Amino acid sequence: MTLHPQFTDILQYLLASNVEVTILTNGQRLKLMHIEAFRHPNVLVKVPLLGWGDSHDVMTQRHGSFERTVKNIRHMVSLGIRVKLTSTVTKVNLHDMDYLDALAKELNIPLEKSPIYPAGYARDNWDRLFPENYNDIVERCGRVETGSTPGLLQIGEEVPPPGEQAAVFGCSDCGTQVHAIKSDGKVIPCLLLRERVFQFGDLTNESLDTVYATDNEDRERVKQLFSYDKLETCNACEARYACRGGGCRAVSYLFKGTMDIKNPLYDECYYEPPQSPYGDALR
Ligand code: SF4
Ligand code: SF4
Repeated sequence: MTLHPQFTDILQYLLASNVEVTILTNGQRLKLMHIEAFRHPNVLVKVPLLGWGDSHDVMTQRHGSFERTVKNIRHMVSLGIRVKLTSTVTKVNLHDMDYLDALAKELNIPLEKSPIYPAGYARDNWDRLFPENYNDIVERCGRVETGSTPGLLQIGEEVPPPGEQAAVFGCSDCGTQVHAIKSDGKVIPCLLLRERVFQFGDLTNESLDTVYATDNEDRERVKQLFSYDKLETCNACEARYACRGGGCRAVSYLFKGTMDIKNPLYDECYYEPPQSPYGDALR
């Protein structure tokens, strides 16, 4: 949580407008005034736990951060604040995930574990974070949901590969309908695609109406980057709008530098196109 000087005022304004708010915080320096502000049914506090013990400290590069974070998580949960754990699975912490599962179950809070992708800091430290076999990471990803949340993965359930996770976990209409806004005001398709080429608005000098206007050429350009027509192996597939070239388009860009190929982590296509009466495949 980067603390804006008017953080609590902004939060109170949003809550008074009946908006659901998710707050991201590393759980390190929570003041009493913030904790009080979090005690609201429309507030969800997301805290990353990037390993167990030393591996969390290695990931955060802050000695003692694991203990402080877990202490604050326990404190917030004891006060009835809605807390959700997140983790990014890497070579450093992949053997810790059972401990995170156990903590989530003990506190009865959800946990979401995602794979590391070659973006930003991770790209610069790829050799330290990326294991020889990427499947070692994928196998440890997934969700722990608390309570009865139909349709979501439970502990022990098979975890789909990353390309499919995006579809299962709700990244729908990316690049066309769903967008993210960075702290500097730049509007992008999602948090995995932050580079200049994906920016199509700037809320520091434009209104939302302007950014989403149909004549915003940058928005149209970004929409075209997500076009299925460019996916050579998929552009005639009748399942492309559901499968989206094997799932998350950001994975293609991050691993291969282009959106024009299908998800490289989804090497096998199980789609069987129907055969035409004349014996030719329809795609
Ligand atoms: S089913 Fe296969 S061919 Fe069709 S979009 Fe998905 S990966 Fe591409
Ligand atoms: S590009 Fe991938 S991560 Fe981004 S919104 Fe789409 S499916 Fe989700």
